[in-house]
Parts: sequence; C-alpha cells; structure tokens
Amino acid sequence: MQRPFNFSAGPATIAPEVLAQAASEMLDWPDASGRHCGMGVMEMSHRGKEFQSIYEQTESDLRGLLAIPAHFKILFMQGGGLAENAIVPLNLSRLRTADSAAGAADFVVTGSWSDKSQKEARKYCEVNIAASNAADGHTRIPAASGWQLTDEASYLHICTNETINGVEFHTLPDLRAMGSKAELVIDFSSHVASRPVDWTRVGLAFGGAQKNLGPAGLTLVVVREDLLGYAMRECPSAFDYKTVADNQSMYNTPPTYAIYMAGLIFQWLKRQGGIAAMEARNIAKAKLLYEAIDGSGLYFNKVQSDCRSRMNVPFFLRDESRNDAFLAGAKTAGLLQIKGHKSVGGMRASIYNAMPLEGVQALVNYMQEFERTNG
Ligand SMILES: *Cc1c(COP(=O)(O)O)cnc(C)c1O
Repeated sequence: MQRPFNFSAGPATIAPEVLAQAASEMLDWPDASGRHCGMGVMEMSHRGKEFQSIYEQTESDLRGLLAIPAHFKILFMQGGGLAENAIVPLNLSRLRTADSAAGAADFVVTGSWSDKSQKEARKYCEVNIAASNAADGHTRIPAASGWQLTDEASYLHICTNETINGVEFHTLPDLRAMGSKAELVIDFSSHVASRPVDWTRVGLAFGGAQKNLGPAGLTLVVVREDLLGYAMRECPSAFDYKTVADNQSMYNTPPTYAIYMAGLIFQWLKRQGGIAAMEARNIAKAKLLYEAIDGSGLYFNKVQSDCRSRMNVPFFLRDESRNDAFLAGAKTAGLLQIKGHKSVGGMRASIYNAMPLEGVQALVNYMQEFERTNG
C-alpha cells in the first residue's frame, strides 16, 4: 500500500516499516531471539525484564547513533518540550548563584519556540534577552558576535530548529570562546537525529519525540552529569533531573510505549546508515525543495539562505487567493498537512527523517504543475 506523503510538523510521519513492526508486535511482543512473552509492550511492567531489555537497547542505540559521551545522562521524561521550558530553569537556573539569590539565564530569541521558552522561564529566574530576530520577522539568526551575554547567567537557551519559522542553527555557538561561563541549553525537538550534535558545546539538550523520534508523550533530555543536583527546592521530584537520572528514568512510570516506538525508530535509523547518512539525505531533500521554491515565480521563502531549516520549510504563494486551491489539489495528489502555522500563514512542508526523497519530489512535481496551470 502506498500511503499519501504526510508533511505534518508534529506529530509527524513515521516510517511505514516501523509502524508495521509495531502492529505485528502489538498483541504479543517477541524478544530479540523471537521468543514470545504473551503480552504487548503497553501491558508490561516497566520494572519487568522484558521492558528493561527494551529500555536498555533503546538507550544504548540512541547513545551510539548520536555519539552521546559517557558523561552525559539520557533521560526519558514526560511533559513535552513546553514543560521543559519550566523544568530547565527549575533545575539549571541556579548553577552559578548562591541558594538565596534568584537564578538567571540568557536567551537568544529566533522564533516562536525560543520566545515561549524565555516567557516561561520568567516564572523561575531572571531572564536576559541576549539577542532577538523579532524585528526581522524571525527570518535570520542574529550574529553571535553581537549577543549581549550576562555574567550571572547559569545557562544560555537557544532553539536550534525553529519549527514554526523554519530557522535552523547550522553550527552551535562556542560559549567558552565567546567568554561566557554559561552552559548551552538547546531545544532540539524538531531536528534531533537529523544531524550530528557537537556535545563539547552543550550542557543540556531536550526535545519532544513527536517530530523525529516517534509518538507524542516522550520527552528526551540529554544532560551533562555535573549539572545534576542544582534543582530549586520547589522543583517537582518527578522533574528533578538528578532524581530522574538516579532512577534510570523510572522514578515514576516512564512513557513505556513511546520509548519502545522510539527504540524501533532508532533500529530503523541504524538500518538507514545512521545519522551521517540521514543528514546527507536531509541535505538533498532540503536542497530539492528550496531550489524549486527559489526557482519559481509563484512560491517564495523568507528565511535568509544560510539559516534555512532542513526540517521545516515554510513557503508562500505570491497570490494568496490561490492558497485554498493549492491545499485542496495537494490533498488530491496525496500530499497531506502542508498548511502553514496560523501565526505565519502560507504553507509549511515538514520533511523529517521519515519523509523520503520521493515524497519531496512528489511535492515539487505538484508545486510545478500547480504553477503551470494556475500561474
Ligand atoms: C514541538 C515543539 C515543542 C513543543 O513540544 P510539546 O511536546 O508540544 O510541548 C517545543 N519546541 C520545539 C522546537 C518544537 O518543535
């Protein structure tokens, strides 16, 4: 069965072979040697040996794929990216201040998600906006040389891929070289596993799973060990990174089925050749789509070319009165969920790891055909 191509920004498309495997194991999960246990993954105790083996395999596959060094902890949490906007300051805003003083953090605002993050952090600590691209309509990344970093900041937060605005950091800032003592916190929700991560520059990375890692409900946190143990007294125990780490993400019941699905996706990523191979495919997919947009008379993208996202491609029709016809025709052509975010308008094609090159080619073919017949 050829399913339509699904360009949703999240929850997003999942490789059909991964879904088929999950379906075949739904009622009775087989272990690696093919031995059935008489239960589906959703029905297993998180402390039983079956789920423990799923958990350990998932964690070690992720560590291998993303080359996560041994001195970083991998936490499988709940609450999504938005909850992390509170959980991060609750845990990290006092790394560099005495217990009595308010903590502080720097933020670089590059779009809707980093803006939400800085607003939420204000409930828990002092917030300094080191730089913002709001005046440019979130279309470029402010040059790091102009960031106004503060001495008090325990961490600097950036969203390394702005899902709504289509702006991506293609290199991580080197805070030590910039004279900052802050830890770098990255929200990598919407491009995790699409490219390698330079862990030498990162203190903590977090992301919701529903873009590139599977179903909603799982939140991935990767945190350097020495940053654990600084949580504010008010921090809920289930959200204290040290408590979560000390209990191998099982202080409370983790999202077991979402962890299992992420594990199937990690095995799929390994079969695809790992992150380097995925990155090469993602570069080729993005190039195909941006070239089609830039080369057309009907479509355009507003983001400065050196910080365009490989994952989320917002684009507009010069004649906005054609939007509804464009979307209706796309659906008929088997191209789903390409309407832009309501705050930006226009269209958005999200082309995560699970979107094959053929899907992007089908979209480009449709766009060119639509321009020819409606231009
Ligand atoms: C989707 C997304 C989030 C929000 O995740 P929720 O799971 O809805 O809380 C946060 N940050 C980025 C960059 C995202 O793309």
